[in-house]
Amino acid sequence: SLVSPPPTGQVLTAEELNVLYEGIKLNKVNHYDYILTGYCRDQSFLEMVVDIIQGLKKANPSLIYVCDPVMGDHGAMYVPEHLLPVYKDKVVPLANILTPNQFEAELLTGRKINTEEDAVEVMDLLHKMGPETVVLTSTDIPSKNGDQFLVALGSHKIVKPDGTKTNQKIYMDIPKVDAVFVGTGDLFAAMLLAWTHYHPKDLKMACEKTVSVMHHVIKRTITYANEMAGPGKRPSPAQLELRMVQSKADIENPAIIVEAKII
Ligand code: ADP
Ligand code: ZN
Repeated sequence: SLVSPPPTGQVLTAEELNVLYEGIKLNKVNHYDYILTGYCRDQSFLEMVVDIIQGLKKANPSLIYVCDPVMGDHGAMYVPEHLLPVYKDKVVPLANILTPNQFEAELLTGRKINTEEDAVEVMDLLHKMGPETVVLTSTDIPSKNGDQFLVALGSHKIVKPDGTKTNQKIYMDIPKVDAVFVGTGDLFAAMLLAWTHYHPKDLKMACEKTVSVMHHVIKRTITYANEMAGPGKRPSPAQLELRMVQSKADIENPAIIVEAKII
């Protein structure tokens, strides 16, 4: 979930981004193994991001681009609508790993998700657009284990032992915490990047570690926030700032708290 911050700070323009990239090229430090993008609300900026990623992929053809196509949540867009065709036609085709929430996956494919079967179909459609790995970070699909869980799903292209190709799908139940956090989407995408680096052929393991990190960080955060707020009081957004530094050990080596199911 994304909560609007007060409107302060500066917005980098597409041209300013390009100047930074030109500097990186001049210094010959344009060789990256990974690139991760997230929230963006300007069309020309997003198009410049596309140009830069194309350049970086030329410099390193095995670069992995992790794209969090941040556009909205629960039926509402919080970026301008004309970014959608840019994501569909230019950004998603470049992505190796895509982390939409349910609403973003629906926007990109034009298909509504009500059931697990719908989600499977939507992930297959997203594969056809480019990415070899897709994770639906949160959905409204009802969990068989009750409403205390939120459902996430993943899919990746694999080669079976007999040499044929298929999309392997996984299902996860994530324990829900009754609070709204800022930055969880960013942390999820970053953790998926890190854990797919360590487990490039094992999306189940990468997702279990990612979701487990999320759980430990969120648990530590809500415990602290409730303590600060005092008995019976709702914690403030400031008290709910993710306890990242305090979670360093869990981030590096998370105890696994969910088992992903291969479906
Ligand atoms: P998005 O809208 O992009 O899915 P969210 O921040 O809502 O981003 O969710 C990303 C991840 O953060 C989820 O997969 C889950 O692991 C975690 N998360 C966020 N909010 C909660 C919550 N209230 N309870 C449990 N997990 C949460
Ligand atoms: Zn998100």
